Amino acid sequence: FDQRDGFIWFNGALVPWRDAKLHVLSHGLHYGSSVFEGERAYAGKIFKSREHSERFKRSAEILDFQIPYTVEELDAAKDATLKANNLVNSYVRPIAWRGSEMMAVAAQNSTIHVAIATWDWPSMFDINTKMKGVKLDLAEYCRPDPRTAPSMAKAAGLYMICTISKHRAERRGYADALMLDWQGRVAECTGANVFFVKDGALHTPIADCFLDGITRRTVIDLAKARGIEVVERRIMPDEMSTFDECFICGTGAEVTPVAEIAQYKFTPGAVSRALIEGYDKAVHA
Ligand code: PMP
Repeated sequence: FDQRDGFIWFNGALVPWRDAKLHVLSHGLHYGSSVFEGERAYAGKIFKSREHSERFKRSAEILDFQIPYTVEELDAAKDATLKANNLVNSYVRPIAWRGSEMMAVAAQNSTIHVAIATWDWPSMFDINTKMKGVKLDLAEYCRPDPRTAPSMAKAAGLYMICTISKHRAERRGYADALMLDWQGRVAECTGANVFFVKDGALHTPIADCFLDGITRRTVIDLAKARGIEVVERRIMPDEMSTFDECFICGTGAEVTPVAEIAQYKFTPGAVSRALIEGYDKAVHA
């Protein structure tokens, strides 16, 4: 990924893609002091750019550092990065991390670095292919108790168990893995939130120990605007046998129906279809 043409915004300037390097003694690498975002631009405009910039800054604060740019500066930097790379439909990845001044657990005086990259990542818009649904495994790892990890931050360190879980799922022939939380409740996937449909209503886990996705909140708003009831509640895995439809959602996944989670089967239907179409309209509005 590092050998490409194009530009990466790096600490305030656009630098050639291949030159956007950091030192091997960066605290962010050794101790996980790194936060990031995942966004998508549609027809040249980043969907919910401000919300992502706000979450980016909040994630850093949870990890006890400040991103040295305002929300407005970050939004402008993302737009400049898109322009410099001539991209209109793409994925956008801001990242911030502690630099290499202090090589110990404590790192109060380290420089905070910020970079923004963007690359082509087409969304899967063929709805009929989407409606076949993906298959999910059940992950061995659980989302941690919020007392043991800063689970509300989009922090790089929290993705270690996601990568392990996703690798295992792909090895076993699944698209992704559903993770339970520390109490054994249904939580989310390795990079997306999950929703179920029962008797026309949406049911989704309460986001109390995992990322309350910007797409998740968008889907909740879209559903309510369509008169679909939304219930946020505790969902135990056994209950999955009683749901009609299931979908996952996130910036990358957008709204993606699910056909199977381990032994549980779902039939992507009218509610998933309506929300795929509603989300597609919203991101292009
Ligand atoms: N959960 C996790 C673990 C994620 O990585 C993501 C993607 N950022 C989401 C949920 C969905 O968040 P969003 O809708 O803000 O992209």
